[in-house]
Amino acid sequence: MKKTVVITGSSRGIGAETAIEFARNGYENIVINYNNSKNEALKVLEKLRNFGCSAIALKADVSNKEEVEYLINETLNQFTKIDVLVNNAGIAQQKLFTDITHKDWKRMFDVNVGGMFNCTSLAVKNMIKNHSGKIINISSMWGITGASCEVHYSASKAAIIGFTKALAKELGPSGINVNCVAPGIIETDMNKNLSLEDVENLKYETPCQNIGTPLDVAKTIVFLASENASFITGQVIGVNGGFLI
Ligand code: NAP
Repeated sequence: MKKTVVITGSSRGIGAETAIEFARNGYENIVINYNNSKNEALKVLEKLRNFGCSAIALKADVSNKEEVEYLINETLNQFTKIDVLVNNAGIAQQKLFTDITHKDWKRMFDVNVGGMFNCTSLAVKNMIKNHSGKIINISSMWGITGASCEVHYSASKAAIIGFTKALAKELGPSGINVNCVAPGIIETDMNKNLSLEDVENLKYETPCQNIGTPLDVAKTIVFLASENASFITGQVIGVNGGFLI
């Protein structure tokens, strides 16, 4: 299957595992994107090439319009089309609301929401031309229910849900599905501040009695990109072990 998939923020965590899961599922043209973690991105690239993929790794800060232009234009130069865009790149920060500065707020929205806008607005032109495409945006259960001490993160993740639903309505007639995955607590660097005790408590509070793995999320993303999900659009799929029902 010569499909082209672009996964933002795929040097580490959920994005890296998603890239590998696409390779396991036979996708051939895979674009890795990183901002700071070049070495990690190159390791993911090597794994993808071991699957026989024509993978490339491109540096772009998704919040930067010019760098995203490079990411999307270079993808199209190499592979001529984009079948799947996964807007995964994201940052988090834990702070009391009263400590959040304007700079914190702006960076959170520039990366988590602006990054999704920058990538989607360029990639979608190619998808509309092809009358085909899948866009999968990574939100969070905190975008649905809100997290204390993460107001700016929760608000940015809620914005991703609104964007997904509106764009799904607009792009459905163009043959493009737009969906959202809202993970719960997933074992990645983003949660490395949690103590062992915190993790045990979170497992206890989760009906499935565990926290999630990047692979749990990656499998859902790959499903949404597949033909099996062709009648699913505008949806928010929770991957949280029942933590939020
Ligand atoms: P992670 O391990 O911290 O990885 C974040 C990834 O995003 C890295 O590859 C990083 O790239 C990239 N990134 C950050 N800022 C970027 C920017 N400005 N431009 C391009 N790439 C950028 O986090 P994760 O847990 O895998 O999270 C991935 C997504 O899932 C995020 O959107 C996050 O909000 C969401 N999520 C995570 C959880 C969780 O519990 N882990 C739960 C719900 C939702 P570099 O290192 O190269 O800069």
